[in-house]
Amino acid sequence: MPRMRLELRLSLLYFALATLWIILSDALLAAVAVPEIVSAAQTYKGALFVFVTSLLLFVLLSREMGRRRKADRAAREGEMKFSYLFLNNPLPMWIYDLETLAFLDVNQAAIDQYGYSRAEFLSLKITDIRPPEDVPRLMENLAEARPALQRSGLWRHRLKNGQIIYVDIVSYEVRFDGCAAALVVAHNVTESIRARRDLQESSERLKAVFNASPVAIFVFDTEGRIRLSNPAAEQMYGWGAAELIGQRPPFVPPDKTTEFDALIRRALTDEIVTNFETERVRRDGELIQVSISTAAIHDADSAVYEVVAVVSDITERKRMEADLLEKEKLRLALNKEVELRNMRDRFMSMVSHEFRNPLSVIVSSGDMLERYYPRLSEESRSEHFANIRTYASRLTDMLDDILALLRAESIGPEFKPTPVDLAQLCENAVGEARLKAQNQWQIHFANLSGQTIIKADEKLLRHALNNLLSNAMKYSPPQSVVSVKLWQDDQRLHIQVADQGIGIPPENLKRLFEPFYRAENVGDIPGTGLGLAITKQAVELHNGQLEVESAVGLGSVFTIHLPASLTT
Ligand code: ADP
Repeated sequence: MPRMRLELRLSLLYFALATLWIILSDALLAAVAVPEIVSAAQTYKGALFVFVTSLLLFVLLSREMGRRRKADRAAREGEMKFSYLFLNNPLPMWIYDLETLAFLDVNQAAIDQYGYSRAEFLSLKITDIRPPEDVPRLMENLAEARPALQRSGLWRHRLKNGQIIYVDIVSYEVRFDGCAAALVVAHNVTESIRARRDLQESSERLKAVFNASPVAIFVFDTEGRIRLSNPAAEQMYGWGAAELIGQRPPFVPPDKTTEFDALIRRALTDEIVTNFETERVRRDGELIQVSISTAAIHDADSAVYEVVAVVSDITERKRMEADLLEKEKLRLALNKEVELRNMRDRFMSMVSHEFRNPLSVIVSSGDMLERYYPRLSEESRSEHFANIRTYASRLTDMLDDILALLRAESIGPEFKPTPVDLAQLCENAVGEARLKAQNQWQIHFANLSGQTIIKADEKLLRHALNNLLSNAMKYSPPQSVVSVKLWQDDQRLHIQVADQGIGIPPENLKRLFEPFYRAENVGDIPGTGLGLAITKQAVELHNGQLEVESAVGLGSVFTIHLPASLTT
């Protein structure tokens, strides 16, 4: 049987008692007084009164009790909701006693984040989860009058493992088990604080670099207007940052604006431009040379929204470079002049020696023949004629060499490549040399190459080889051996002429191929210093190289290297 509601029970009780009272009192009255005084009507009236007042009492009580029940239900539901939100909240929450500062309750998130178990938490005070140096400030804060909802802001908390975290604290004053308490929500903001700090540090660093940089730094918007400029920029151009910001750069000369816009456009397409050299004009009108490097700055969506330009003043450097260039030109001109003068000296001494001697022989032989012809013996006449022929031919050879060199220098040497058999060419040259040597020198030839036909200028190569052979004989004693070798490897063909002659002093080797240059150990051996210059020219026309190795007193080895690409 369902339990009767309290207000009904009370009303019924009141009704029963009141009715009993009326009946008993009336009965009592009837017993002690005259019965006709207590009429039945009185009894009914009393009963009606009691009934009505009981009914009224019931209505009033019902209303009141209903209200209370509702409030109770709401309170219970609220409590349930609160405890659900408290326990399952992803943010650490706790309730602490405002007087003792002891933890009264904590949620799971707090247990998880702080590392204390529930039991450990409940044995701690809120001061225990602070770094000791923060406790005085906490105590001060607690001593102040607090609003019901307090946003305490940023605090440092210490986890069980000693790690310090930054938390944003909101607390709400509550009553808990009858005592004044505060409900706290602690939002861990360590990561964002660290990120903000990192950002601030890196922006501070950038700011320091920006301000201390000795080179000018500008940040332009996409339209080429200045957004930022550093102190070095002000120094370089003479305009202060305040005058520049928001403006197109006034230091770009009018004829360079298109170039400037193109630079900005290039940066906007993410191209990194380095050391772009151009001209800028200072506030005082002076033109300066600058070197500009640009790069794009991207926003969070990777879109280019600014362009940074680093500019250095290279006017001085350019001036120095120009000076240096001028000096270098002068030095080269001077060297050339000295070289020419040296060559002229060498030429003159060569002419005076090498031309004078044969000429005087020719002249004296001619004289002798003219004056004493009838008296001269047949043998001596022939000797004079031979002298004239030999020396005239030496003069002709020398003249040919000089002319070949001069022609080559003024109009370039003649170069007519045709298929040439190198083995044959060497064979012929060796044959001619043997004739000239008249058995005084032993001339050997070794052909170690299989493929010997190349595309070359036969005349030039023959001239070169003849020169090396005649030098080999000229600068080595009779009876010594001159050996010619022809061989080939992957890249090149090689012709080598080696002798056992006087050799060349090391200090003369470097200049040996210069026209008219002769080594200091030549003594009376006649020569013009032209042969090797011409030989070198001939070899280089074939894209080859002429090399020499020599040891004084032991002999010299001249090698012509020709590229294998000449083989047909
Ligand atoms: P020239 O022999 O007419 O003086 P070259 O130009 O042919 O001129 O040679 C230049 C110089 O190189 C020679 O004067 C000589 O000092 C040196 N030289 C050339 N070939 C030899 C060689 N085979 N042995 C020693 N010295 C040489």
